[in-house]
Amino acid sequence: MNFEQTTQIFRSGFVAIVGKPNVGKSTLLNAYLGQKVAIVSDKPQTTRVRQLGILTRPDAQVIFVDTPGIHQPLHRLGQAMVESATHALGDADVMVFVCDVSELPTDEDRQIAALIHEQAGERPVLLALNKMDRLPAEKVKQHTEAYWSLLSSEPKLNWDWMMLSATSGDNLDKLLDMIVARLPEGPLYYPEDQVTDRTEREVAADLIREQVLRLTRQEVPHAVAVVVEQWNERRSGAVHVGAMIYVEKESQKGIIIGKGGAMLKKIGAAARQEIAHLTGARVFLELWVKVRKEWRAKESDLRELGYVERGE
Ligand code: GDP
Ligand code: MG
Repeated sequence: MNFEQTTQIFRSGFVAIVGKPNVGKSTLLNAYLGQKVAIVSDKPQTTRVRQLGILTRPDAQVIFVDTPGIHQPLHRLGQAMVESATHALGDADVMVFVCDVSELPTDEDRQIAALIHEQAGERPVLLALNKMDRLPAEKVKQHTEAYWSLLSSEPKLNWDWMMLSATSGDNLDKLLDMIVARLPEGPLYYPEDQVTDRTEREVAADLIREQVLRLTRQEVPHAVAVVVEQWNERRSGAVHVGAMIYVEKESQKGIIIGKGGAMLKKIGAAARQEIAHLTGARVFLELWVKVRKEWRAKESDLRELGYVERGE
């Protein structure tokens, strides 16, 4: 007979991941979720829309909100990013501020810290000092203190920091335990096997955009949007995918298509593999490129391409 009833508390809630572009937010999210739900790139501003990553374990459900890097708005798309990040902070039970500890804080980090101070209230904040694998031992103290001082002018009990590496996996479990400990008691919001709120089509569009960013240089990246227009599952089990790559200028279209179509072929081959991995099916991928002048500046185009959240 078991007289001692162990009451296990189930915790759940939303965790906002904020930080300037390129510090490793998407890499961290992907590491926790064990599959590619957010795209990663070495070029800033890869992530454009808010997306959920759901991690369920026996004692908790952690719903991560990956936000586009907060930065000074340069044009309409930039502003949509800031609004979406601010919105994510508003919903969150826990805020995770991701920084690149291999470098000293910049003005962008200070701005985000200020935004967190402004929004946090009594909510917990965790400072994730990422890229520790690139931090030389003699700089650990100086860099750690530089980042912590951005947050700790009015130290709060439930605020803390952890040094980690999203690529090597070091200390990811420790940060996760710190997050879970700060979540409220709550229900299972999503089925335990669901890892994202995005559709396969949306993820596939991002996988194609990731390959465009990886394989092209110059000013192309910021000007690219991808929309999956066809998604047909055949009786054989194969998936036929047709996607449109939108750019802003004829010159960018030329770069993406490449000499004799060579670049587009390369993008297609790499993206096809990623989509096959995502779906677990054989994939036929057809890509088209179209110029859509100044889509980044137009609200209606941003909405149509899914870059402005509905209802805002
Ligand atoms: P985001 O813009 O904040 O989402 O950043 P990403 O996740 O796209 O990562 C930007 C770049 O930093 C990519 O090239 C990652 O591979 C790299 N990166 C992320 N985490 C680490 C890390 O812990 N160590 C190192 N050395 N590189 C990292
Ligand atoms: Mg990202």
